[in-house]
Amino acid sequence: MTTSPAPVILWFRRDLRLSDNPALNQAAETGAPIVPVYIHDGGPLQDRAGGASLWWLDKSLRALDDSLKARGSRLILRSGDSESELRRLIDETGADSVFMNRRFEPELFARDADIAHALKDEGVEVKGWNGSLMCRPGAVLNGSGQPYKVFTPFLKALLAMAEPPSHTTGPRTLDTPAGLRSEALDDWNLHPGKPDWSTGFDWTPGEAGASEALSRFIAGGLKAYSRDRDFPAAPGCSRLSPHLHFGEIHPWRAIERVRAAAEAGKVPQAEADKFVAELGWRDFSAHLLHNFPQITDTAFRPEYDRMPWRDDAAGLRAWRRGQTGYPIVDAGMRQLWTTGWMHNRVRMIVASFLVKDLLIDWRKGEKWFRDTLVDADLASNVQNWQWVAGSGADASPYFRVFNPITQGTKFDAKGQYVRRWVPEIAALPDKWLHAPWTAPPEILRGVGLRLGHDYPRPIVDHGQARDRALEALRTVTASRYDDLEH
Ligand code: FAD
Repeated sequence: MTTSPAPVILWFRRDLRLSDNPALNQAAETGAPIVPVYIHDGGPLQDRAGGASLWWLDKSLRALDDSLKARGSRLILRSGDSESELRRLIDETGADSVFMNRRFEPELFARDADIAHALKDEGVEVKGWNGSLMCRPGAVLNGSGQPYKVFTPFLKALLAMAEPPSHTTGPRTLDTPAGLRSEALDDWNLHPGKPDWSTGFDWTPGEAGASEALSRFIAGGLKAYSRDRDFPAAPGCSRLSPHLHFGEIHPWRAIERVRAAAEAGKVPQAEADKFVAELGWRDFSAHLLHNFPQITDTAFRPEYDRMPWRDDAAGLRAWRRGQTGYPIVDAGMRQLWTTGWMHNRVRMIVASFLVKDLLIDWRKGEKWFRDTLVDADLASNVQNWQWVAGSGADASPYFRVFNPITQGTKFDAKGQYVRRWVPEIAALPDKWLHAPWTAPPEILRGVGLRLGHDYPRPIVDHGQARDRALEALRTVTASRYDDLEH
């Protein structure tokens, strides 16, 4: 008599795909039935996901369920505390192992280790793999065994040591026990109710959507990526960030396809290399968060926590709503609200404006991005905010203050981006588009634009704000020397 092996629970998290999925491949290797589950754990240790992220999660889970159904399986949905739900599922199915792709955010990593420990005591094996990053955080160390704090040597070391996994498509069929209880996704209310603020979200979440976005990029923006990626009106970047965040594509798969395009002579090698380097920033962010978990809440360079941040509720509100009076800033903030995403160049401009022109704590900006970005990612968001604020590991110096007018004229010279997102000033000629308050009254009258009525006057004077920011920086650096004297 043969007894069938005990099922393996396949715990999906931020790896919502079937191809290039190490945990799925390993589960299939065992030859045991597979129980694919997603647990919606509303507990405090989740990745602090905001509304836009949940919008994406909703669609991505539906896409994953469809893919599983096409292979004879389905996604079991459970909500509640992760450990309790796993235990319940183990009881219901008789599973003797849980396979997952690891989450590397420190709190989740520790929580998962606790779960593994607790279940091991009861004879259930918990195994994890890296299914989301080019390299497991903690693996890339310098010659003295210390984590890198500077990006370029980190990337060099990563590329030298990494062993890209070969491409896999996952098993053709999955044997999943029948009759398992699953909750209904609709009951989780991940899609916004009333008002539905997501009507402008133009995305195709899921594995197929990720692959199509990459194909579009390879056929389009990649050819001149290093130049065009800075121009927000150009289709110059991949828009893969939310797909990568939810694990709908493995970063090595994206790299493999981009490198193949270069090898086939379809795009210059230098452009493929630039794309790999940008993906490297994603790994660098995860690496920093892993090694310095305090950076979610405190400055990587501690002296920056003495910055005399201003408490400016009206300024913060104007920034969030895209009503600062600086068109490139307002365009970015409105693109974010309307689509759940913002172009990288403009993210830098709006972040600099908040932290330097308004002298508002970067943590308030990080929080707003976390709630509104479909690609909101704890490691990348925190790392980039600290980069702009000058307090990060390999950060832009604080004294480099972006000028929103020259940034606008340089990267949106013809104004396509600003005109799209700030339509009330669209009729202004290019010459004044990025600084409407400098337009002569007859020009404003000619286009029917009443500043302070149809569109705000600048909420701060950039020149004065810049001086104030630099003065604040002196406080930080001076107090550093004060400490030395004590
Ligand atoms: P592409 O130019 O096509 O780059 C390809 C991929 O490389 C991206 O999808 C992303 O995964 C990665 N990447 C590129 N630049 C960076 C970077 N600077 N840091 C980390 N990864 C990078 N990115 C997020 O994914 N989540 C965030 O929460 C996030 N918050 C940010 C906050 C601020 C203040 C700033 C300045 C940047 C932030 N970024 C964040 C980084 C970057 O803006 C986005 O990754 C990028 O705009 C996504 O567009 P794309 O996919 O077209 O990028």
